[in-house]
Amino acid sequence: MFRTALRRSLAVFVSLVAASSLQAQSNTVTSPRIYVFDGGVLASETARYRLTDADVEAVELSVASYLIVHPRGVLMWDAGAVADHERSGGLGYEQRLVRRDNQERFVKLAPTLTSQLAAAGYKPSDVTHLALSHYHWDHTADANLFAGAQWLVTKLEHDKMFAADPPGGTRPETYTALKNSRTTLITAAEHDVFGDGTVVIRQATGHTEGHSVLYVKLAKTGGVVLSGDLYHYPAERTLKRLPTFEVSEAETAAARAELEGFLSRTGAQLWIQHDLVAHRKLKKAPEYYE
Ligand SMILES: [Zn+2]
Repeated sequence: MFRTALRRSLAVFVSLVAASSLQAQSNTVTSPRIYVFDGGVLASETARYRLTDADVEAVELSVASYLIVHPRGVLMWDAGAVADHERSGGLGYEQRLVRRDNQERFVKLAPTLTSQLAAAGYKPSDVTHLALSHYHWDHTADANLFAGAQWLVTKLEHDKMFAADPPGGTRPETYTALKNSRTTLITAAEHDVFGDGTVVIRQATGHTEGHSVLYVKLAKTGGVVLSGDLYHYPAERTLKRLPTFEVSEAETAAARAELEGFLSRTGAQLWIQHDLVAHRKLKKAPEYYE
C-alpha cells in the first residue's frame, strides 16, 4: 500500500519535472534563437516578378515561417500558406487554395506547422507574440492558431485586413480570430519587440500598405533579416526587378534601398523567405540558429 503510494507520487513528481522543463524553455534561453519551419512549395510564374525562368535557379517558391525564442517571450513570424486544419492530403500533396479575388494557387504540402512547432518543443499557446510580414494568404494560413498571443501589426496593414472589402490577395478567414487578440498597432518605422534591440520589426512598405521585415540579432550567427516579400527571388535583388503586383512600386524601391543600407551598415544577412534554394539549405526545427 505504502509502496504503491510512493511509486505514484514519484511518477507525479517525474512528470511535473518534465512538464516544467518544457514550459521553462523560453525562460532558460539567454540569447535569441530562430527556428525555421518549412511551409511547403508554392507554384509560381517568374513573369509576375518581371523575370524569366532563365533568371532564376528554381521557379517554385518556398513558404517559410519562423519562431523567435527570446528570454522575454516567443514570437511567431508568419503563419504559412495552408492551414493545418484545411489540408486535403499528406506530405507532397498539391493543395489548391482560392484567394479572396478568386485567383487559385497551388502549394505542395510540408509537415503541419503544429508538428514542426512541437519538434522545437512548443505548442501554439506557448507563443506570446505574433507578427505577419504582410496580409497575403501565403503568410497568414495558421494565424488563427495564435490569436491568444499579442499581435504586433502595423496600423496600415491592420486597417486593410479588417476593411469592409479586404485586398484580393488575402484569405480573411485565416485571420478572423485576430480581431479579438491583444493588439499592438505599430506606426513607427521600427518596433523593438522585447526592448533590447535584438528583435525588431522594420516597416518596409510597398508590397502591401504596411509590409514589414524582421531583424534578429543572434549571438553566434550575427544579424539576420527575414525578408517578408520585399524580395521573392534573389534575381529581383541582383537585377533590380519589381513584382508586377505591388501596392506601390516607388515605396518598394525605397524600402529596398533603405534595407540594403541597413544590411551594409550592420553586416546582417538577408534570408529571402520565398527563395527555395536558400530555404532548403537552412537548418530546420528542432535545430536552430542562435
Ligand atoms: Zn509571399
